Amino acid sequence: MPAGTADDSGRNQGRTDVIVVGGGPAGASAAYAAASGGASVVLFEKEDSIAQTVRTSGVTWIDEVREFGIPRECYNPISGFSFCSPNNTVSIRGGGEPTAAVLDVRATYRWLASQADRAGARIVTGAAVTGVTRGSDGRIIGVTVARDGQNTTHKADVIIDASGFPSIVSKSAGMQWQWDRFGAGAEYEAEAENVDPDTWWLMVGQKYSPAGYAWIFPVGGKTVRIGVGVGKPESGADPTHILKRLVADREGPIADLGDIKVTEFHYGLIPNDGLARKTVYDGLMLVGDSAGQANPLVLEGIRYAIRFGRLAGSTAASAVLAGNTSADMLLPYEKGWRDAIESRVRSAGRIQDRWLGLSDEQWDRELDIIRGMTPDEFVSFVKAEFGVLDMARMAARRPGAAARHLFRLAGDRLR
Ligand SMILES: Cc1cc2nc3c(=O)[nH]c(=O)nc-3n(C[C@H](O)[C@H](O)[C@H](O)COP(=O)(O)OP(=O)(O)OC[C@H]3O[C@@H](n4cnc5c(N)ncnc54)[C@H](O)[C@@H]3O)c2cc1C
Repeated sequence: MPAGTADDSGRNQGRTDVIVVGGGPAGASAAYAAASGGASVVLFEKEDSIAQTVRTSGVTWIDEVREFGIPRECYNPISGFSFCSPNNTVSIRGGGEPTAAVLDVRATYRWLASQADRAGARIVTGAAVTGVTRGSDGRIIGVTVARDGQNTTHKADVIIDASGFPSIVSKSAGMQWQWDRFGAGAEYEAEAENVDPDTWWLMVGQKYSPAGYAWIFPVGGKTVRIGVGVGKPESGADPTHILKRLVADREGPIADLGDIKVTEFHYGLIPNDGLARKTVYDGLMLVGDSAGQANPLVLEGIRYAIRFGRLAGSTAASAVLAGNTSADMLLPYEKGWRDAIESRVRSAGRIQDRWLGLSDEQWDRELDIIRGMTPDEFVSFVKAEFGVLDMARMAARRPGAAARHLFRLAGDRLR
């Protein structure tokens, strides 16, 4: 029996170097990197299979997809970006290579888990982590797991909390608390009559979402994801309710889809509290949504989950091999991800605050500012990869205080 798993009596059977909690992109990537780094790894996923429930729209970027090695059959490339507000529309399209992608979420997450499995991680599904166990010095040394009607305990030198929004490990350890600010999203996956397979739509303004946006993302062939995201606590609106109305009334570009046959419903929550959480403790790391690692501009976190999942896993393996898994030894992980994204996320948060405050008329004007961006500029902007000079150049190309303000919010991150 592998280390750290339970026998039929439900008792703990030895220890594992690293326990990963959650089989989403962060957890699968952490398990892959920790196992590749030479650690023994067990990953617990509460659902019966990886990506059994889809809670995301799966938009990401071609550069990252290639860098991570995600197979071509797992995504649909996107080269056109359309935005609409109540009285304005902008379409950005270049003749070059596609820059964005809509993932086949199940296929991608299962591929990530298969990478972890091949690297030697043991993936245990149907296993819900319910709490933590502590040593006599108070350090977290294990987790309790409910599986097949039995409760077992499992010990490890490092526990990686990749449980997403619920942050089960760090919350049950009393180290974190519920998110104050978050996005709630509801989405249909559907077969539609008329699909432009390489263009996505973002829809802004009160009728689409009182604090957020609605979207149409083509998944490939005739399949699209139509969704609505609402910021909490900024709005009390229910995204499911708005989604039903938008589809029933065929609002905006949804009308152009023609007949729509809904095949699946997705619902999820994503943290939007910035990067306030500490993510390393003695023997404990937080990664992905449990660490709040999301780009606030469009609330996307999959590429961060994969990138920083890998960083967390390799840092954990190095600490295990060094025989010291204290917070100090795990700190290079926190330093690494903060250096990579903290200032960008802060700037993106300021733009998000501006966007949450716009009236419908102001959105109509905001789209005029976005008009004229090249596809590369647009993608860099939405990805929160603001080059200071690029922002200054974009501001200089547009008249008016609103444009100057928008690009200054993005461009002053290095000050
Ligand atoms: C509606 C919506 C749309 C989104 N759209 C996009 C998008 O287009 N692009 C993008 O990049 N990001 C998007 N996001 C955000 C993205 O989904 C997350 O940032 C990403 O999934 C984070 O990955 P993760 O592995 O940290 O968490 P998750 O993907 O949430 O994975 C956590 C895993 O842990 C498991 N788990 C939870 N509790 C336990 C437990 N107690 N025991 C064991 N396992 C447990 C869960 O079952 C799950 O498999 C969206 C989010 C929402 C809500």
